[in-house]
Amino acid sequence: MRLLIMGAPGAGKGTQAALIKEEYKIAHISTGDMFRAAIKNQTPTGIEAKGYIDKGQLVPDSTTIKLVKERLMEEDCKNGFLLDGFPRNTAQAEALDEMLKEVGIKLDAVVNVDVADEFLIDRITGRRTCLACGASFHVTSKKPLKEGICDICGAELVQRKDDCEETIKSRLQVYHGQTAPVIEYFSKQGIVKNIPGVGDINEIFANIKKALGDL
Ligand code: AMP
Repeated sequence: MRLLIMGAPGAGKGTQAALIKEEYKIAHISTGDMFRAAIKNQTPTGIEAKGYIDKGQLVPDSTTIKLVKERLMEEDCKNGFLLDGFPRNTAQAEALDEMLKEVGIKLDAVVNVDVADEFLIDRITGRRTCLACGASFHVTSKKPLKEGICDICGAELVQRKDDCEETIKSRLQVYHGQTAPVIEYFSKQGIVKNIPGVGDINEIFANIKKALGDL
């Protein structure tokens, strides 16, 4: 299965992406996680990306598209993949279509996790992330078993620098201005599945599975 998951920052797309990856046994490609790993390893991509990420802006398309193109060529993507956080604007969406066309494949569905803005700020400021494995928790709604420690890999949980209140405003602006039109773009291809993203994590996931069931 070849999927894309979309949603505003804090909509819970990372959480649902982890469940989808597990259920369908497909490669999870999160551009945000890839950039954070690049920053941690101080690679040239990481050094370039850091300034943009810290301000809540998009990393330039040329860098991002190259990163995704290389990742999609890897062996584990042959069984299918879940793109998370890419494309973030219509130029990236067109580049993705082009990349897939070159290798003769198509996206099966775009899962859009839909959450109103009023819920997003609390969700993002309360989020705690494991920089080792990318898992995310929340201080009230998805507490780790041991405070400050990742349930999955045991590393320390931190608040992402771009999850602070000032940066969120700019990320939401970027989302509404540049990323929401990507949903329109894929709607025209008839592959968007809109899933309400408020409520119990497992119920949201059950709705995603139901929507993908007939593929
Ligand atoms: P995320 O973890 O998906 O919220 O991504 C965190 C940050 O990484 C974003 O706010 C952007 O600065 C950057 N980023 C992630 N994906 C992309 C993308 N497809 N295009 C440009 N920047 C991106």
